[in-house]
This record gives sequence, C-alpha cells and structure tokens, in this order.
Amino acid sequence: MNIETGVSLSKLTTIGTGGPAKALARPRSVAELEEALRFAVTEALEVVVVGLGSNLLAGDEGVDALVIRLEGELAEIEVDGTSLVAGGGATNAVSLHRARDVSLGGFEFACAIPGTVGGGVKMNAGAYGRDWSDIVARALVATAEGSDWVTPDELDLSYRRSALRAGQVVARVELRLEPRPPEAIRTTVSELIAQRKTTQPTNKRTFGSVFKNPPGDIGAGRMLELCGLKGNRIGGALISPKHANFIENAGGATSADCVALMVEARRRAHEQFGIVLEREVAFIGGLELPPL
Ligand SMILES: Cc1cc2nc3c(=O)[nH]c(=O)nc-3n(C[C@H](O)[C@H](O)[C@H](O)COP(=O)(O)OP(=O)(O)OC[C@H]3O[C@@H](n4cnc5c(N)ncnc54)[C@H](O)[C@@H]3O)c2cc1C
Repeated sequence: MNIETGVSLSKLTTIGTGGPAKALARPRSVAELEEALRFAVTEALEVVVVGLGSNLLAGDEGVDALVIRLEGELAEIEVDGTSLVAGGGATNAVSLHRARDVSLGGFEFACAIPGTVGGGVKMNAGAYGRDWSDIVARALVATAEGSDWVTPDELDLSYRRSALRAGQVVARVELRLEPRPPEAIRTTVSELIAQRKTTQPTNKRTFGSVFKNPPGDIGAGRMLELCGLKGNRIGGALISPKHANFIENAGGATSADCVALMVEARRRAHEQFGIVLEREVAFIGGLELPPL
C-alpha cells in the first residue's frame, strides 16, 4: 500500500484550509484499509479518516496522523432489493442518484449534505427532520484488529454524534430505503435544494454548521445573527452574511482565522444568551476551542 507524505489538508477539506498530513493512505478495499490501520498501530500514529472534509477543520501546522481516504471498492455502491450498500467513501450525491435510478426513496434529505456515507454515519448527519439513524440498517466498521458489521444500537446515533471512536473506520454502510418513483424523488430533491439556496451559502467554501443547535427554541444561526455577527471577519474567515452558523473562506483564510471567529462567536452567544455553544465541526491537527 502506498503511503503519501506532505499532502495538504487544504486540498481535502471543503473550507480549503489546513497544513500537510504526516501520512496519507488511500485504501481501495477492506483488506487494504485494515493494512493501513495496522501500519498506523506499528508506527504509533493516530488515525484520522477524511470523507469529503465537509465538516472538518485541520490545523495550519499540519496533522500528525495517518490520514485515510476511502477509494475504489470502498466508494462503490450496490443495490440489494430495497437496500443500498454504499462504501464508506461513496458520496451522498452519487448514492442518492443511484437510489433514484433504481426507484428507491428515503435518502432525499441528504441531497444538500456534501459528504460521504461513512462521514454521515460518524456525524449522524441530517436535515429536514431526518438523519442517518432513520435509514442505517448496519455498518461495516474496520479497526486494526479486523472488520465487523455493527448494528444501529451499537452505533448509538443521536444528534450529530455516534459512538464511533478514533481508529474505527466505517468501510461500508447498508441503508434501508423504500420504493418510490424517480420522478417523485426528483421533485423532492429540487424543492429541498431550492429551499437550501435561499437560506445557506451553498456556493461558498464552508465546512457546514459551525455549532450544534443548543436546546431551546433558538437555533445557533439565529442566536449568532441576533448577536450581530453576520459579516464579521477575521483574516480571510467570514461569518456568512447569509447564515450566521456558517464560516466562509472569503480568500486566504487559515484554520486559525476560523477558530478565532468561533471563539468570538461563542463568547458573544454566552454573553447575550448564557448559552455555551458546542461545536459541530470536527477538529483535527491540534486545534481546540479554549474554555469560556
Ligand atoms: C454547504 C454544506 C452544507 C452542509 N449541510 C449539512 C446538513 O444539512 N446536515 C448535516 O448534518 N451536515 C451538513 N454539512 C456538514 C457535512 O456535510 C456532514 O457532517 C457530512 O456528513 C460530513 O461528511 P464527510 O464525509 O465530508 O466527513 P468529513 O467532514 O470528512 O469528516 C467528519 C467527521 O467524520 C469522520 N469520518 C469521515 N468519514 C468517516 C468514515 N468513513 N469512518 C469513520 N469516520 C469518518 C471524520 O474523521 C470526522 O471526524 C454541510 C456541509 C457543507 C459544506
């Protein structure tokens, strides 16, 4: 298996920031994935899986870990009756098209979530009142010791979290879908995407939601908007003028710029609402938010 060095995380994340990965493997099968995980154990390297990097912020100095991206068979999709079996590295967009082509519905909610099916399990991604927990039948989880199918109960999916730990990689996912005419799927997807474009910065470089919605009636975006944060800028990072729970790379942003904006946003939300916002975006490469 080929191990690459020096590949910049800015090329592997949608926000386009981050320094080089110490090591990068692109396994194309479960056997190659297990080999990569054993390599990490032997070399005492932490493991970081990167899907489409659409909810990921990486340190500017680099990531001292084995970064794994799933390719080949691990990004392929098969259909078995009403089940869609997708590699952990298969994109949501391609999976949704495949489901539609064989008249399977239930995955439409993911049309505007620009990630992979494996990343969706880890984050229990969701939109429009549905999330991965509604459709995951089981997932093949690989570790350095081998691979096992795990149940939704074992995954313990809840709002933007799962029980998956570092070093556990979702290699394949079985999604339980339902028969639906392709035309109906197409109509739903067009409506959801149109809705998305009016409320979120879909044509900018972002990493999706910055913070989770806190308990209560006011979402994180509305809260940050009420704090007057829309349009705030630090370096090349900008709080989206369209939706305050998004940070845009307005040109030349660094991850440090993004973190500095997050610190300011959390401080203001705490001051005005007494709420400690919890980040949704995953941090790698030594980043952290200082306690308030
Ligand atoms: C414009 C935009 C809109 C978005 N809208 C939504 C939305 O509506 N709802 C929503 O929930 N999210 C949304 N997101 C965030 C993001 O798309 C989701 O969290 C997505 O599921 C992340 O998938 P990914 O493959 O890109 O994972 P990454 O961002 O690459 O990684 C996220 C986390 O998952 C882990 N991971 C990735 N792949 C695997 C794997 N195979 N096995 C184990 N762990 C893995 C990573 O290590 C990391 O901890 C949006 C993002 C953008 C940029």
